[in-house]
Amino acid sequence: MSELHLHPAVDHGLKQGRSDFTGGTLTCHCATNPVKVRIDAQAAFNHVCGCSKCWKPDGALFSMVAVAPRDKVHVVENGDKLKIVDPSAAIQRYACTGCGVHMYGRIENQNHPFYGFDFFHTELSSDQGWAPPEFAAFVSSIIETGTKPDQMGAIRSRLRELGLEPYDCLSPPLMDAISTHVAKQKGVLAA
Ligand SMILES: [Zn+2]
Ligand SMILES: [Zn+2]
Repeated sequence: MSELHLHPAVDHGLKQGRSDFTGGTLTCHCATNPVKVRIDAQAAFNHVCGCSKCWKPDGALFSMVAVAPRDKVHVVENGDKLKIVDPSAAIQRYACTGCGVHMYGRIENQNHPFYGFDFFHTELSSDQGWAPPEFAAFVSSIIETGTKPDQMGAIRSRLRELGLEPYDCLSPPLMDAISTHVAKQKGVLAA
């Protein structure tokens, strides 16, 4: 077993999702009055992410993050504890002021390629059946949060062993979606 702590949800192999799974409830780490967010959808594009903005559990090199349509995301308990981490960021990440966990991220710019999707962490839910991560995004970025560059080979090997193809941006389908959006905005492609 690898000594690398990529993320607790992947370090022992990926858990299969259920095709009939229709969502669950995320709970923050507060022992009392936790924030609860209900997601009425299966996770889409679940992946591990090496960027410095996504919330990660203690000791993990990567976060694990997925999306769902924003109208499927509902704060159901203790929403008054939520605060936007950085209002100027493209993704407004709502964190619990009690425990620091990010409960969901929302894009308000309607011209953003991913407008309409909220970002969230399936590990905050005890419901079983979430789609597992499919790839690793922004892998090189973990150097910016303290990983030694000479560890990157071993980390990319471990990701591949887990079936999480490592990319240093997003996956090709998501990068294509961004460029398609930009091309339509520019009129290069028919909308
Ligand atoms: Zn909390
Ligand atoms: Zn990220």
